[in-house]
Amino acid sequence: MQRSADLDLSPRILLGPGPSAVSPRVLRVMTTPPIGYLDPEWLAFMDEEQALLREVWQTENPLTLALSGTGSSGMEAAIANFLEPGDRFIVGVNGFFGNRMCDMAARYGATVTKIEAPWGEPIRKEQIADALKQGPAKMVALVHAETSTGVLQDLTGVADIVHGAGALLMVDCVTSLAGVPVKIDAMGVDVAYSATQKCLGAPTGLAPFTVSPKGVAALEKRKKPTANWYLDLAIIAKYWDKNRAYHHTPSTALHYALREGLRMALEEGLEKRWARHRANAEYLWAELAKMKISLHVAPEHRLPPLTTVKIPDGVDDPGVRKRLREEFAIEIAGGFGPLAGKVWRVGLMGFSSRRENIAALIGALKEIL
Ligand SMILES: *Cc1c(COP(=O)(O)O)cnc(C)c1O
Repeated sequence: MQRSADLDLSPRILLGPGPSAVSPRVLRVMTTPPIGYLDPEWLAFMDEEQALLREVWQTENPLTLALSGTGSSGMEAAIANFLEPGDRFIVGVNGFFGNRMCDMAARYGATVTKIEAPWGEPIRKEQIADALKQGPAKMVALVHAETSTGVLQDLTGVADIVHGAGALLMVDCVTSLAGVPVKIDAMGVDVAYSATQKCLGAPTGLAPFTVSPKGVAALEKRKKPTANWYLDLAIIAKYWDKNRAYHHTPSTALHYALREGLRMALEEGLEKRWARHRANAEYLWAELAKMKISLHVAPEHRLPPLTTVKIPDGVDDPGVRKRLREEFAIEIAGGFGPLAGKVWRVGLMGFSSRRENIAALIGALKEIL
């Protein structure tokens, strides 16, 4: 058998919708050797990781942990645990990820009501209120940061509407956590999940997850166990709490990385980190404006960690992205669904959100266009 060559992938400046760059500090801790999942030192590590997660989520929720799996595992855990067959689930669909929620929920037998907005606009509060007036629902879900469209969903006042109708509020925070203000308790969110590879600046593979006391009460009232064994919060919680009951073997390397990413976010300071993401996005927006290139989303709804850039007329979309990758080592992404061929998606997340990266992208675009 022929021997395969040493691994040799090209370095890239990751300015797409995720994964984002991982700092050397995070990479370094990943080489720490594994330790047993019931070792007292590992259990102390988990307690500390949970405390860091609560601080970054801005919550007191006891049920706060990191699931083994990517952001989509967080989405599936939210849906599988909080919905039972026949439960009505209202989903804001204004991009790719709202549709993914609908697909998942239908597989668990939920009755899905979509409330829609064009790709590039947020869901309006009146739409949520109207859907709840038409009948009771178990849960309402919104995508806080729509990575497919570059829209930041305003959540002010949403929890009051949802809770007033007796429903739970679920929010996808995959691209918002540690990049824009996320305050779980203050926003009244009951179920939220994120991912490690967007604004947290760690490699992909874990899904930070948090549940409000109201959410926990709903879990306890389930008629049947969650249909997804691997993501069943009732059993996973028994490993993270005092019981320390084995469920599955967590990846130590990924947890070491998450802990370091959380520490870096808190050392920087959440307010300062949010401000950095915004300032760098504004720098990108201003530089593009100078080039007469416009953006897809209205300024008041723009998401600093992900910008959708209108592809100028007559420009070869895949050709430009190929040259950015091959000649400048820069990754950006194209559009999905209705935005395919119409926008580029530029991510400025976590360790990738740096002024020099934007300067490099603008310089490259000037040369190519
Ligand atoms: C990336 C993303 C997901 C999916 O996360 P994976 O880690 O790719 O599974 C879900 N929701 C949003 C808003 C995302 O940006």
